[in-house]
Parts: sequence; structure tokens; C-alpha cells
Amino acid sequence: MENDANTLPHGMNVVYLSIGSNMGNRLAMLQQAVDRIEALGRVVARSPVFETSAWGLEDQPNFLNAAICLHTKLAPLVLLQALQQIEKDLHRTREVHWGPRTIDIDILLYNTYVIETPTLTVPHRHMQDRRFVLVPLAAIAAGVIHPVLQQTVAQLLHTCADEQTVHYFADWQ
Ligand code: ADP
Ligand code: MG
Repeated sequence: MENDANTLPHGMNVVYLSIGSNMGNRLAMLQQAVDRIEALGRVVARSPVFETSAWGLEDQPNFLNAAICLHTKLAPLVLLQALQQIEKDLHRTREVHWGPRTIDIDILLYNTYVIETPTLTVPHRHMQDRRFVLVPLAAIAAGVIHPVLQQTVAQLLHTCADEQTVHYFADWQ
């Protein structure tokens, strides 16, 4: 895996994203999201798709989740806007917090940056608490270090207290 910043073209950034869906044709939603994300740079790795029972609210369809690594020249807030536009275009509903959504795209890591703005927190605030984020991420970035917690993704997964089962669901076509 190519995640050494020294081997990257100038101005290129290494970003890890989490994508999730629990409404409609969930697998197709993830596929469409990745297709759109490919326009923002180069998708250099994608985890298999995993299934998890819903987090936060219990009474809703199971989530499918995956992690991807994107090389992009977009600055963090520009990237966030582009991802939110993709969410909108894929008809994400925002009626219930943690409720069903066609697509959710989160920025987990952006280089080794630590970002704290009203609209963007990187590393993602909850990534270390959620197996549905860590299990897919560990499939493509087990050795990547969380710049605040100073632990690898594999270590974060090992110590994560979340008890939800996250199981392999499918590979990409
Ligand atoms: P969640 O992803 O926590 O379930 P939402 O997708 O509804 O919730 O996100 C709510 C807000 O979180 C977004 O409007 C966005 O501005 C903010 N946000 C903060 N940090 C991030 C991040 N790292 N990735 C994506 N959104 C983020
Ligand atoms: Mg989100």
C-alpha cells in the first residue's frame, strides 16, 4: 500500500474515508458513492464491505460500511463540501440523527493533520469508538497511526470497547 507521503506527487494528500448506508439498495449506494469519490482524486484502496447492526438507534436496517483510501489535492474543507454534495446527490435523508440514511461519508484521517473547526474534526471524533469504522479501516490501513492517540488502527481495534459484531458482507464487483 502506498501511504508514505514522501512517494506522493506534490500537493497530494492521503485521506481515509468511511462510507456507510442502511437504506435502499445499500450495496449500490456504496458503489455509487465510490464512483463519485473517484472524481475527487484517486481511490487507491478499498476495504471489503462489512455489515453491522445499526449504531445509536436499534430499530432500523443494518448498515453496510467500507473504508477507502483516497489520494486527493482537495484541501480538507473543500473535500468535506464535495463529500456532502455527493451525500445530497445520493438523496441522503437527515430527518433522524443516527437514523436511516442512504449514504454517510466521513473523513477519518487526512494525512497526519489534526483539524478542529466548527464543521470538521479530523481525526474523526468517534472513529476509535466504533467497530464498524475500525474493522473496515484495519483491512486497508492496519499500521496507520492515529495522530492524536498515537496508536495504529490495529491497536485501536484491539482495545475498542464497542461490542457490535461487524462481519464480512461482500467484495466490490
Ligand atoms: P455522523 O457522521 O456523525 O453520523 P453526520 O454525517 O450527520 O453525522 O455529520 C454531521 C456533521 O459532522 C457534518 O455536517 C459535518 O460538518 C460534521 N463533521 C465533523 N467532522 C467530520 C468529519 N471528520 N467527517 C465528516 N463530517 C464531519
Ligand atoms: Mg457523517
